[in-house]
Amino acid sequence: MSFVTDLERLKDSLTRTDRMPVVFLGHGSPMNALEDTDYSRAWSELGRTLPRPRAILVVSAHWMSKGTTLVNVRPEPETIHDFYGFPEPLYDIQYPAPGAPELGREVASLLASHHGESDESWGLDHGAWAVLKFLYPGADVPVFQVSVDMTAPLSDQLKIGRLLSQLRDRGVLILGSGNVVHNLRAMRPGGAPLDFAEAFDTLFADRLEQRDMAALADREQLGSLLRMAHPSHDHYLPALTVAGAADDKDALTFMTDAIDLGSVSMRSFIFHAA
Ligand code: ZN
Repeated sequence: MSFVTDLERLKDSLTRTDRMPVVFLGHGSPMNALEDTDYSRAWSELGRTLPRPRAILVVSAHWMSKGTTLVNVRPEPETIHDFYGFPEPLYDIQYPAPGAPELGREVASLLASHHGESDESWGLDHGAWAVLKFLYPGADVPVFQVSVDMTAPLSDQLKIGRLLSQLRDRGVLILGSGNVVHNLRAMRPGGAPLDFAEAFDTLFADRLEQRDMAALADREQLGSLLRMAHPSHDHYLPALTVAGAADDKDALTFMTDAIDLGSVSMRSFIFHAA
């Protein structure tokens, strides 16, 4: 896989605007944090392409809340190793980026209509650091996380993205981290892409191209395909947040559009000023 051409084009467009792009990354297996893969190389390259943000707001699939949207406001968020049974070196990884407590509190107020609350219990989970360690290896850009409310309708995530999009003009990078298709039960190491995985991944990309974001949050219309792609919708929600933060006039660039392990889409996308 080569993503160089697309990112070159992205770089050209970014030099013409101060408005930050919004990024969704398919993170897949935690092992991507440890190994040199097509994905980790693409993330490194993306980090060199993006403008340097003032802060990074991460919506990670791995911070789930119920009935609230939590915003981490710790000045020094700890690196959380929220997975089990992986090789020891993965547990040794630290990502000591500073937090952004002031901005975090502001975001909690901004999301009041979605039960936004400041939180000091969380840090950086692997949805955040497994990709950030490649994007910003110096861990020198302040980072804070926003949780996904598992009890809210899918469309709420689009609305949250819309509210957050105003931060784009203030140098804040909005980064969603999840997977466009994520069915761990159907996962087969080394397996070919499963039909439902390819079907949902393609449908998602088509709707995104058409800027039909509402269709992406329409459970009824997505039906059984959505249930197969996401037996639990935690990894889907960050993709909706990023879709919601896109402007009508933004250009769309896809990255790493591959199905891994049969049923995990690694598709990533960036909305940026055209
Ligand atoms: Zn994950």
